[in-house]
Formats: sequence, structure tokens, C-alpha cells
Amino acid sequence: APAPPEHLTPPVRRETRQIDVGGVKVGGGAPISVQSMTTTPTHDVNATLQQIAALNASGVDIVRVAVPRQEDADALAAIAKQSTVPVVSDIHFQWKYAMAAIEAGVAKVRINPGNIHKAGDTSKVKVIGDAAKDAGIPIRIGVNGGSLEKRLLEKHGGVTPAALVESALDEVKILEDVDFTDIAISVKHSDPWTMIQTYRLLSTQTDYPLHLGVTESGPLKTGRVKSAVGLGALLSEGIGDTIRVSLSADPVEEVKAGIEILEALHLRERGLDVVSCPSCGRAEVDVYTLAENVQKGLEGIDVPLRVAVMGCVVNGPGEAREADLGVAAGKGKGQILKKGEVLWTVAEDEIVETLVYMANEMAEEIRAE
Ligand code: SF4
Repeated sequence: APAPPEHLTPPVRRETRQIDVGGVKVGGGAPISVQSMTTTPTHDVNATLQQIAALNASGVDIVRVAVPRQEDADALAAIAKQSTVPVVSDIHFQWKYAMAAIEAGVAKVRINPGNIHKAGDTSKVKVIGDAAKDAGIPIRIGVNGGSLEKRLLEKHGGVTPAALVESALDEVKILEDVDFTDIAISVKHSDPWTMIQTYRLLSTQTDYPLHLGVTESGPLKTGRVKSAVGLGALLSEGIGDTIRVSLSADPVEEVKAGIEILEALHLRERGLDVVSCPSCGRAEVDVYTLAENVQKGLEGIDVPLRVAVMGCVVNGPGEAREADLGVAAGKGKGQILKKGEVLWTVAEDEIVETLVYMANEMAEEIRAE
């Protein structure tokens, strides 16, 4: 295809190092990934897997789960094993939960080192760095205004971009001291303009990949605007390797907003995307084999189409509501879905051919638009 005219080419990305989050590359020219975070209690494995299924069907690339209690840490192994997208554990205060998460097989750990190390004692952060290195997984250093050291607040006169950047780079240094460099950094702030200035400054001082976000951006309407401003400004300057839109809303909305921001800047082109649910305790079909067969059947479809393969008919349609096309399978049958609505039910051995037929029909419609 001929190259697009200059004004339609995406922003030139800043060069960063690359990390690998459970197979999703971040930085180093990799496509900008969209992240979200589950809102279910992490220890409720089924509910968390079901929410991951909905996020996956919406196009999420990486999912983060909170680990506030021991029971949440205990659930991580089951979640990491079954999730169809890489799982990141979010750890505050408890270094032991970070160790448990690494042991459980998560794809990345996010820590806020400021609330893990105590005045001058950075040993626990170093222990986490050593364990992550042995496991071959990256760490995101996520600093925020709330946990800035008193020393930095005094030096910079409050939570300023310079204070946040200095804090992040101090934390990076702790990990580098144990020879750990498999790092991503975030310096989120709830004020988009402060956040823009902070990431701009950080990007001049490091080439680790950057995770962008506006924290506590609020409910759907205001949150989407704040995130679009903060993330959009930076991405248009080539800054940012992975993003999360934080909303006080269904996390599926975060993914939709994130994808829309990337599409608005021509940083993401949609193509065929076959996604499958992680198949929780409700699964009534071998989701993985079915998803593989659907993928093979749809080879050659060259239009933007997200097809979700879901493992049960109870929750599958709802969880797949953001997919263009889908199947909720179980008990020898498959409900064929369009935007989460059940169109009809076919026998299991007719699922693939029905989806191929539907996909071709939708492809025709899309081409004709
Ligand atoms: Fe959701 Fe059903 Fe898949 Fe479980 S088996 S994750 S409820 S679609």
C-alpha cells in the first residue's frame, strides 16, 4: 500500500528500551499497549477471571489486579495461570505480597517503592528486584504524589514535576544497584497539566519505557476528557509506551477510551483480533481449542473486527459486549453474538463456519462504508 501523506502518519515515538510483559512488548518501538485494572476482589478468582474476560473482549492488552491482602496474594497463581492476557500485580506497602506475586507467576509487578521502603532502608525493594530478575519479569516503578518523601517535598516545595521525577529516578537507582534494569516507570498525577509536565521532564532523563496515566481522573465523562488531554498531549509528542485510562466506572470503559485515544492519533490501526475468555469455573467448552479453530477459520479477514470466543452461555454474551462478533459456547452448542446480542444458536461443530460466514458478511459491510 502507498505510504500515507505526512499529516496522517502517527507521531514519531521517542526511543525507549523494551520490556516484555508476559509476551506483550512495551517500549522499543512496540505498539502502545492498553492496560486496565480489575475492580473485583482479587481473591474472588472466578469474578476476577470473568472481568478479565470482559476486558479481553474489549481489546485490553495487559490487566492489573490489586493485592491488598494475603488472600489476594494467594489467588494470584490461579488467576495468572488462567488469564488470557498478561496479569500485573499491584503492590503497596507489603513487600511480601510482591514476593508472593512473583512466585505465583505474574507477568509484571507494580510497586510504589516509596511505601515499601522505610526511611533509608531500601533492602526490601532490592529483595523484590532480585526475585523479579530470577523470574525474568519486569517491575513498574509507580510513584505518585501521595507517597513522596518529606525530603523531596521540602526540596521542591510540594508535589511538583521535578519532585515526582526525582523520586522515580531515585527508586530506579535502588533497583539498578542490584543490577535490575527490566523497568517501566510511571509518574501519574490527577491534574493533567502537572502530569504532562512531569512525563515530559522524565522523558528527557531516562530511556526506560513509560506507563502513562492520569490518576483519579474521575467518573466516565470528566475522566475521559482529562485522560484524553493528558495522554493525548504526551502521545502526540511521542512520549508513552503503554497507557491506562483510570475511570471511576466499569473498567471496560477504560479500555474503550484508551483504544480511542490511540486511534485518534493514528497510533493504533485495528485489524482482525480473535480474543478468548480465560474460562473460569463456569466454562462449558474447551475455549482454547475453539479459539484456535476460529483464528484459523478467519485467516485472511483484513478488516477491523474483534471476535470473542467465550466459554459459557450465562456470562459470555455480556462479557463479549464490546466485541464485534462472538460466540458463547457450552453444552454442545454455540450462541452467535453480534455486539453482545445473541443472534442465533448453532451446534458446536457449526460454530466456526457460522463465524466465518458472519465475519465475511461484516467485512463486506465495512468495506462498503
Ligand atoms: Fe466468563 Fe463464562 Fe468464560 Fe467464565 S467461562 S470467563 S463466565 S465467559
